[in-house]
Amino acid sequence: MATAQLVRRGVSDPRVLGAMRQVPRESFVRPDMTEFAYEDSPLPIAEGQTISQPYIVALMIEAAKIKPGDRVLDVGTGSGYAAAVLSRITGKVFSIERHKALADAARTTLAQLGYDNVEVRHGDGTLGWPDASPFDAILVAAGGPEVPEVLRKQLKVGGRLIIPIGKMAGVQELVRVVRDAHDHFHEEDLGPVTFVPLIGAKGWSEAPVDGAPSFERVWPKKARAPRQPLPDLIRQTAEPLPDLDDRAFGSLFDRFTKSRVVLLGEATHGTSEFYRARAKITQHLIEHHGFNIVAVEADWPDAAAIDRYVRHKSVHVGSGPAFRRFPMWMWRNVEVANFVDWLRARNAALHPDQHAGFFGLDIYNMNGSIHAVLNYLDRFDAEAAHVARQRYGCLTPWQRDPATYGRAALSTGYAKCEKPVLLALGELLAKQLEYESQDRDGFLDAVQNARLIASAERYYRAMYYGSAESWNLRDTHMFETLTHLLDWRGRGAKAVVWAHNSHIGNAAATDMGEARGEINIGQLCREQFGLDAALIGFGTDRGTVAAASDWDGPMEIKRVRPAHADSYERLCGDSGVPRFLLDLRERAKPELREALSTGRLERAIGVIYRPETELASHYFDARLPEQFDGYVWFEETRAITPLPTEPQAGVPDTYPFGL
Ligand code: SAM
Repeated sequence: MATAQLVRRGVSDPRVLGAMRQVPRESFVRPDMTEFAYEDSPLPIAEGQTISQPYIVALMIEAAKIKPGDRVLDVGTGSGYAAAVLSRITGKVFSIERHKALADAARTTLAQLGYDNVEVRHGDGTLGWPDASPFDAILVAAGGPEVPEVLRKQLKVGGRLIIPIGKMAGVQELVRVVRDAHDHFHEEDLGPVTFVPLIGAKGWSEAPVDGAPSFERVWPKKARAPRQPLPDLIRQTAEPLPDLDDRAFGSLFDRFTKSRVVLLGEATHGTSEFYRARAKITQHLIEHHGFNIVAVEADWPDAAAIDRYVRHKSVHVGSGPAFRRFPMWMWRNVEVANFVDWLRARNAALHPDQHAGFFGLDIYNMNGSIHAVLNYLDRFDAEAAHVARQRYGCLTPWQRDPATYGRAALSTGYAKCEKPVLLALGELLAKQLEYESQDRDGFLDAVQNARLIASAERYYRAMYYGSAESWNLRDTHMFETLTHLLDWRGRGAKAVVWAHNSHIGNAAATDMGEARGEINIGQLCREQFGLDAALIGFGTDRGTVAAASDWDGPMEIKRVRPAHADSYERLCGDSGVPRFLLDLRERAKPELREALSTGRLERAIGVIYRPETELASHYFDARLPEQFDGYVWFEETRAITPLPTEPQAGVPDTYPFGL
């Protein structure tokens, strides 16, 4: 477990941190979940239950003030993970689980790991474990309506009971009960949480109802602040947006155009309204405010095909069709195609110096980038092409599936290809003047591809060390690509960025930054450009979205669940205004900013959407007014319209040129 994350979230007991480091969480998760074992999130196990999030396990153990030698009762064994962590600190752990299959599996896992101070029993934990009592501590990993009297009675004097208490669905309170004397107890509230229901004789008597959570969550303490009539405030402050086809749509965003970089987000990767709104705003910024770079969350070599099309450049011989990698619908869709055609038509009437270009910031198409660099050098410098071929040859075995390079680099213990790819980049840069004099745009394309390969090489290695590092490498690469584009365009360069809210909102105002140490393009732009960057988020309540169920899976049109009761989206939905812009800047609406500054949930749907685990997999904590300068709301939205992804018989795949 990346204990640095736990420390950042306030866990400080060295015994707890040591035990978390010691227990191999991958032994407690399903084989298909192994790669996520070291993420700080709950994961599904059998019987519709979950293995706890490491942070919750650490938080509860720390709250119980467990000492070596303690006798501890763990109610809700689940996978046995929390019991295992407890067993590394205490003398003896008694763990009880109401699902027999889970109790049996946990017993086997704990025995295989040699943790012989844990006893697992199948039974109703609301009744405790009378024959093993009294206990120094009792930890209950499921939420009940009240503190069961029998559990209090099974505490030693001085013993601590940690239990979530409250409604079956929604927010509960984590409570610590301390037995001060034989017949005296005191209780403390430790903060708002959401846990799965505690089902049993002294818990909830029924099977979980619809809407009961299937995993746990710790809420920021601020979430308990008294509720303001926020939907009313939003209704009063929101500026209703006209229809997307109305020319006035873009002019509402004039207030942000003093910024050199305008970043436009999206709350999903498959919502038509988000794509169309970004296109409308971007058209307005290009036509009326001199923006000349559109930089999107797409791979550089693929976006370069669109750039050549919109800037009326010749197609590279031998370059394959663009956007053939998962998730194809993200850029192969009618909404993007319409924008691309508009940009091409607009550029046609202008001098090339006034053309606006279309560029990719992302790093996933390493294969395409290698081809592009070699293709470029083949045209201009055969000798250098020969050397670069050898250098990139190092990556050849992994080109089809670069993720396996990271695993190989990890197991061999060194980054075999790091040096060659950096040398190849250095050699290109060393001849910048010579190459640029022959083809300035061609050089930009080649050098960005070489940078992408160098970043991707690091990225695939970092993937195996932890998610924050690889995320940070990717977003830093995207930010640097943006600054290279601004430099290349020179004086008067102005960029619009299209990327997911999670990339363009300031990560420092979300638990991405606060809990996981992740940075993003929005944060880097804020730090580098200050108010010269405008960060604009997008959100929706319900409708349909294009997304897959698994990575590399087929695109599906999925129904978006109405937003969670504790989310910003719910507040916006309750305002009753179907489509609006909220200006969140300090000088614009101070009272709105203040009211919205208490942390809340925000939804992020990426290329994968799993409505069944939505709260765990798609919501994060954020402070909206610090995250964005503006927020665009569409109450109900629909999925994008994808273009055909399968090659059609007899028709060459020429996207975007054959549109
Ligand atoms: N801490 C566990 C782990 O790390 O894998 C996960 C706990 S899971 C969130 C909660 C567990 O409590 C579920 O496995 C559920 O079946 C169990 N549970 C609910 N009510 C119970 C009861 N009355 N007695 C025992 N277990 C119960």
